[in-house]
Amino acid sequence: MSRVLVIGAGGVSSVAVHKMAMNSDIFSHITLASRTRAKCEAIADSVRQRTGVTIETAQIDADDVAATTALIRAVKPLLVVNLALPYQDLSIMDACLAAGAHYLDTANYEPRDQAKFEYSWQWAYQDRFRDAGLMALLGSGFDPGVTSVFTSYTRKHLLDRIDTLDILDCNGGDTGLAFATNFNPEINLREVTAPSRHWQDGQWIEGPALSNRQLFDFDQVGPKNMYLMYHEELESLAKFYPEIRRIRFWMTFGDSYLKHLEVLQNVGLTRIDPVMFEGREIIPLQFLQALLPEPASLGPLTRGKTNIGTIATGVKDGQVKTLYVNNVCDHEAAYAETGNQAISYTTGVPAMIGASLILTGQWQGAGVFNMEQLDPDPFMDMLNRHGLPWQVRELDSPLAF
Ligand code: NDP
Repeated sequence: MSRVLVIGAGGVSSVAVHKMAMNSDIFSHITLASRTRAKCEAIADSVRQRTGVTIETAQIDADDVAATTALIRAVKPLLVVNLALPYQDLSIMDACLAAGAHYLDTANYEPRDQAKFEYSWQWAYQDRFRDAGLMALLGSGFDPGVTSVFTSYTRKHLLDRIDTLDILDCNGGDTGLAFATNFNPEINLREVTAPSRHWQDGQWIEGPALSNRQLFDFDQVGPKNMYLMYHEELESLAKFYPEIRRIRFWMTFGDSYLKHLEVLQNVGLTRIDPVMFEGREIIPLQFLQALLPEPASLGPLTRGKTNIGTIATGVKDGQVKTLYVNNVCDHEAAYAETGNQAISYTTGVPAMIGASLILTGQWQGAGVFNMEQLDPDPFMDMLNRHGLPWQVRELDSPLAF
């Protein structure tokens, strides 16, 4: 019997809360709080209709540490699941320490004024969480999250050593819209427009954004162009698996998305520095976000599948092998189950799984943890049982690029 407080009421949260309600033996009491209470109530209504479970709702501005601490003290959860935005990570971690609750998120901290994400800010909480006897689990989404666990599973069961690792993220879904982002537009565009970066022989190699393109034939999706990008799990995988010589992250983008992105960048609409407009400061990217569809609204529109996984080349029993571990998720099936598209689904389900492993004590520890530091087996088992089945395939040869 465990109480949980979920903060944030977007697409990812909606999936996670529906899935928690479907597992009420583990999540016996759920409170959902966000900046806009009406969004929490809409999710609560859907949860009640789909599962018969009643959840509580509350209003919170999670930038406010004192108010968040007071909410945690009032709700008394064992665990706070942060599904708001990366900007709130540190304030929610502070509130968890003050009120004495475990912490989980799906995306690492970003300061608002720099398009930059790295674990240093959250890793700096290591001693405080350890001394308080609390656990902070970072990045329990798909990537980071499932891809990190696919890597630790590969290392535990399939390879004695990993030499190269490629993470391939394909969204073959089509909304029919000219331009939409599949998760929070502001965070998504900051990530996509950042310079590419990958890990090679002990150092970061940087290049211009979206400049290295490869064609890859994805199972159940077909051939897609994918682009080399920086992504946050590269940093923790390089730290916790120093044996891996090269780690890269690839994401697919359609031509229409890239054409729109180029124009938006050229006219300055992806800028994150303030500009004066009619006598007041605005941030162009935040203005653009107000014009774009909310990810939570894309559910009924999206057709097609996602295919996300890891390709690791290394050695098993003296033989060089290349292993591909991946999941394919169908947007329409995800929508039928929870009312949300597959990007929210593939993030919300692992958030629920990470939360349940903490609540049931299968994952425990005092301090700040990344996903690949914990035993992959119970997580991999739950993926199969809760809507994200995975498969392992041996490839004939390492990637040719
Ligand atoms: P949405 O924009 O749909 O939802 C974000 C929610 O957070 C909204 O309900 C918003 O409230 C709420 N929120 C924002 N600021 C505050 C605040 N100060 N206090 C309280 N609530 C706040 O985003 P998504 O659901 O698409 O994404 C959620 C998180 O998941 C993001 O951090 C994203 O980076 C991460 N993510 C991780 C992935 C992974 O694989 N690891 C993949 C996809 C997303 P309101 O609507 O009222 O403004």
